Order: sequence, then structure tokens, then C-alpha cells
Amino acid sequence: MAVYHSEKDFLRSLKRFNALSSHQYEWHTGFSEKEHECAFGHTIPAEVLYFKKPLDMDGERKVRVCKDCMEKLVFITIDSDRHSKQVSEQLYREKHPAQKKIMKTMMR
Ligand SMILES: [Zn+2]
Repeated sequence: MAVYHSEKDFLRSLKRFNALSSHQYEWHTGFSEKEHECAFGHTIPAEVLYFKKPLDMDGERKVRVCKDCMEKLVFITIDSDRHSKQVSEQLYREKHPAQKKIMKTMMR
């Protein structure tokens, strides 16, 4: 099941999904020589892209999710209704103010 039409759409929503967490608990891409287990019970084969998030400050405990599950998780949390879309967009903007862009424009 394709949840997002393009990688770009997915990455855009992933950023908004990450805005729900503080910086140190954000989701990152992972790539491993070892096999891992997806939090939803799938096997993540070695050398296949997956997503991971630290569960403690030291990053010793992690949750890993395969790419298919991550797309569904992000879609259900962020894009399944208009309210969660707006709230996550707002959180993202609060964390990433557009000031930098304005500054760059002004510097020119
Ligand atoms: Zn999975």
C-alpha cells in the first residue's frame, strides 16, 4: 500500500511528525549491517533503510520501525485528518521559524 505519492511528501510529513518530539527524541534514518526488528513485528533486513528513535537521553534504548510502517505511522498521525495536519504544521513552524529565509533575503 502506497501511503504517500512521493518521497518528498513523506519527508515533509516526517518533519512535522518529528515536531511532536523534542530534538533529542526525533526520528532518524538508520542503516545497519545487522538485522533488526521493527516495533510492529517485521524483520528489518541488514542494509535496508529503517527509522529509529531514542527512548532515553543516552540513546541506549531505541525503537526501530521499518519504512513501510513508518509511512503508515506518519500518515495516520499527521495526515489522516485536517486537525492533526494543522496542529503538526503549527508545531513545526514554531520549532523552525522562517526567519532564516527572511534574513537571507535581506542580506542580498
Ligand atoms: Zn514494520
